[in-house]
Amino acid sequence: MKIYREDLLSVTIIKSDCDKIIRTILSNRGKCSIGVIITVAMMLIIGGTFPNMALSNSSSQIPSGSREISGNSSSSGSAPNLNGIHDQSSSATPVSSSHAASSILGGNITGGVGSSNKVVMINFDDGYKSQLIYGKPILNKYGFKASFFIVCGKVATQPYWMNWQDIAELKKDGMDIESHTMTHAHLNKLSTNALTYEIGGSKQCLATHGINSTIFGYPFNVGSNMPSIVNTVAKYYNIGRSGTDPLMFLNCNGYAKDSQTDCGTYLANGKLTHANRYDIRSASFYHISNKHNFSPPEMFQVFLQIINSQIPSNSNGKINAIPIIVYHNLTTSIQDYTPVSHASSTTVDLFAQEMKYLHDNGFRVLLLNQLGYDANNNIFYIKKVPSSANGTATNVTTLIRGPSP
Ligand SMILES: [Zn+2]
Repeated sequence: MKIYREDLLSVTIIKSDCDKIIRTILSNRGKCSIGVIITVAMMLIIGGTFPNMALSNSSSQIPSGSREISGNSSSSGSAPNLNGIHDQSSSATPVSSSHAASSILGGNITGGVGSSNKVVMINFDDGYKSQLIYGKPILNKYGFKASFFIVCGKVATQPYWMNWQDIAELKKDGMDIESHTMTHAHLNKLSTNALTYEIGGSKQCLATHGINSTIFGYPFNVGSNMPSIVNTVAKYYNIGRSGTDPLMFLNCNGYAKDSQTDCGTYLANGKLTHANRYDIRSASFYHISNKHNFSPPEMFQVFLQIINSQIPSNSNGKINAIPIIVYHNLTTSIQDYTPVSHASSTTVDLFAQEMKYLHDNGFRVLLLNQLGYDANNNIFYIKKVPSSANGTATNVTTLIRGPSP
């Protein structure tokens, strides 16, 4: 039996037992502290526990009319179908039991420190039309901007994907448009030429539509642990985003998994580091773990846990940790949310609730392209910080600099 990881409760979790544990906890939720429930939920949602299950459940049996499409995620570069379940972590990237996350266990998840210390980045992957239809008006309501990762070869090929006019509208609105390959392939199964097509070709594809993409998002969060893929990403992009941690540490020093002291891409022994400029860590939202389907209210608790896990790391106006939340399809239908094949979907109401929480609690929403990388010191910095309602942004100086060259 394979030992999976240590969870945030500092006990050893056996992978095959995770399902039993969470079902037990959820069935006894009245007896459990919400912190325990949330912690285990977070572990499963953003950890490496359920993706294998979810991926294995991708099928062609998708209700007609669904915005999510499914199908076999082809291992070749020959026009694989997009899968309704995206950006799952490979089991190679289990969630980090960071000190930040563990230290708020059982804490007040609705509270927080001064708003100048609370930041978040909102990402949307895959180019779903629903992101424009439902997501953008909610973002606009609060003046939030988000980063959209587009699968260039899929644009406008189906009604549920955005078209170029849609993407231009987002760009005009100040949104960040970035690359998510040509076909949403599993990069770890591609030839060198296919990698160049997916990674370099998508940058060129966006460029032909007036978009200068400097950030690459790994489909399924796969490939950022493979030098051949990372080196290809490095040829075309400044930074890359993968999964699956609740926080991105700007010094890359907050991950218990690796004892990194900075964000250098490789260790002295030639191995890739856990977090680096081509492996920015994000939290993809999936609502299904082993046989448990998290309701929107449960997912809201996961959201709170993740975004507030930064609090111990960011104090006195110094930002060292940023939660990067990755959304996929948005739906108004709970029937469209629930299926296993739609594990990456978020209801519009839940998304609205989450954005309202960010607004009401003084979070500053940053774009992913505001992350700069200092190659001399191997750390990230925030290029610029929008003025906040509280007027305290100018105090945020550590790791924050002016616009990069
Ligand atoms: Zn994706």
